Amino acid sequence: MIEKREFYIDGQWVAPAKPNDLTVINPSNEEPCAVISLGGQPDTDAAVAAARKAFETWSTTPKSDRMALIEKLLEVYNSRAGDLAEAMSLEMGAPIDMARSQQVGAGSYHIANFIRAFKNFEFDRTLGDHAPNDRIFFEPVGVAALITPWNWPMNQVSLKVVAALAAGCTMVLKPSEIAPLASNIWSEIMHDAGTPAGVYNMLHGDGPGVGTQLSGHPDVDMVSFTGSTRAGIAISKTAADTLKRVSLELGGKGANIIFDDADEKAVKRGVLHMMNNTGQSCNAPSRMLVQRGAYDQAVEIAGEVANNLTAGPAEQSGRHIGPVVSQQQYEKIQSLIQKGIDEGARLVAGGIGRPEGLNRGYFVRPTVFADATNDMTIAREEIFGPVLTMIPFDSEEDAVRVANDTVYGLTNYVQTQDGKKANRVTRRLRSGMVEVNGKGRAAGSPFGGYKQSGNGREGGVFGLEDFLEVKAASGWSTD
Ligand code: NAD
Repeated sequence: MIEKREFYIDGQWVAPAKPNDLTVINPSNEEPCAVISLGGQPDTDAAVAAARKAFETWSTTPKSDRMALIEKLLEVYNSRAGDLAEAMSLEMGAPIDMARSQQVGAGSYHIANFIRAFKNFEFDRTLGDHAPNDRIFFEPVGVAALITPWNWPMNQVSLKVVAALAAGCTMVLKPSEIAPLASNIWSEIMHDAGTPAGVYNMLHGDGPGVGTQLSGHPDVDMVSFTGSTRAGIAISKTAADTLKRVSLELGGKGANIIFDDADEKAVKRGVLHMMNNTGQSCNAPSRMLVQRGAYDQAVEIAGEVANNLTAGPAEQSGRHIGPVVSQQQYEKIQSLIQKGIDEGARLVAGGIGRPEGLNRGYFVRPTVFADATNDMTIAREEIFGPVLTMIPFDSEEDAVRVANDTVYGLTNYVQTQDGKKANRVTRRLRSGMVEVNGKGRAAGSPFGGYKQSGNGREGGVFGLEDFLEVKAASGWSTD
């Protein structure tokens, strides 16, 4: 059993002021796999004080020093890839091969993209030819609290920590208490890369404890949060008293609009995308809207694809899906599947209970509902499990209306071989991201949402800007 109760504060591992043990559960077998300690106010204060002190020097370091640290960070991160994959597999159930390629890979991808964006970023600019004595400076916001979820641990940690570092901010990371282990390794990586003491601090804690303490702390200038819309609202309220900048990456209920002229792999691609990471992605295409003429065949294909998926323990090699993260998530997903049945959607794959042959672990059957309407609970709530909701539509107008009829606005998807139609629909979708025909967004493309999916943008130049203040100066001497 892993025992890791310390926090990383001011360049060293320190014991919590008052031990408050939390057992981490392995979702593949429901057994304890690690013990951490949750922090309290004195630990939060110590971490914030260290970050506040380090801000004085880190905020003024030359760009080249910060670049050297981030380049070193990438090297050390890659050297710990195996450890990171094992930690994430154990704590949140990502199958080991997927953990290596996707979960760990997301971190190195983001670090490399930040290096590119940072290299070209001008922190000191002129306003324009019309105003030679006006100057625009991009300066670090200050001390940033970084609060992250469990579903893509290194993806979110790297998106926040590296952007903050590059911007010249100092920081306190509070990873999800449900999946804290990879962030312990990340903290070792930060240490080994040579991060100056106090620039990066990490402590464990839960939402009502450290999460709330950081959000309300008078010495924290900004909160960058990824997680549920519920917690995003709570953080915004707590942060309001000190008027912090709050950057939010929240939930989603993405529509995948499949027109009847879509390519033949579109449905399969959509189902597999939905089931990736066992459906635990904020940008999952969880509502599949299919044009009436292609609908029956799409339902048949979706059912087959889901029935052919296998679930299995995270430590096993292979292309199966893992368990969902916790008993609480398992129960929530079961009740939403039941709700789908009760509200009259047609079950074409999966359903209640564990997949055949699995009696332990938080395994959910890959589930597909057809003939749903957009007012059903399974079309409105983020399920965060391997559950797809299929809805037929008649016209382009109809598809756009249904896709936009949600409180969320993170990622929508469009499948058609008619480029003009794809462009038209893309413009009309109210979401921070639109992906067409399975083409992934390019490196440095901003990640973030509209409406209740949040207000921040992460990755590349946009991610960097989230951690920067803009100073406008006039009367700047050009002598
Ligand atoms: P969660 O909101 O329960 O927890 C996320 C983090 O917030 C954890 O570290 C938790 O301890 C902390 N927290 C919880 N309540 C808090 C409070 N009141 N004050 C301060 N901190 C608090 O979310 P989760 O279950 O860990 O993650 C799943 C959610 O994250 C899903 O809704 C998913 O859509 C969302 N998500 C969004 C994105 C995105 O970029 N938009 C990416 C991944 C996940």
